[in-house]
Amino acid sequence: MDLKQYVAIVEDYPKPGIKFKDITPLMNNGEAYKYATDQIVAYAKDKKIDLIVGPEARGFIIGCPVAYSLGVGFAPVRKEGKLPRETIKVSYGLEYGSDVLTIHKDAIKPGQRVLITDDLLATGGTIEATIKLVEQLGGVVAGIAFLVELTYLEGRSKLKGYDILTLMEY
Ligand code: IMP
Repeated sequence: MDLKQYVAIVEDYPKPGIKFKDITPLMNNGEAYKYATDQIVAYAKDKKIDLIVGPEARGFIIGCPVAYSLGVGFAPVRKEGKLPRETIKVSYGLEYGSDVLTIHKDAIKPGQRVLITDDLLATGGTIEATIKLVEQLGGVVAGIAFLVELTYLEGRSKLKGYDILTLMEY
């Protein structure tokens, strides 16, 4: 299946000059959403995954059906102040300023094999911070899966040594 037909390219969003890749048409189509999910499940099958971890909000949309299909749990990574119990946090650089991502301290047991999911790899900052959270809790990043990779932003250079799946490249 050609998944790119379900990605809408929005010019000048959220800022002039950006061509935003909108994956909501893919989620909106049952066949395409299932196909994309099945590709990630097939990738994860031989990795002995114990847990899926995804950053808000689109990392949840990709990760939760994969967790359900594999019969494993899902742990959310969220912006600061959104998780109600004890968390650890990592700050990461944005184009202007920085942001903070958090995860519950008891979300991962040391040695658990984690698959990280998100919709899109751009500069890699979000996933680099997510990896740090997983590893600080003793998790092992066994794979990272995205629907879309913007290769021209070279996010992969921040993720050297990790096993990465992307279903579409721009
Ligand atoms: P990065 O941290 O620069 O790799 O940016 C990745 C994060 O920004 C992901 O969580 C994406 O959801 C979001 N993002 C950046 N660009 C786009 C886009 O074109 N479409 C959808 N999400 C995007």
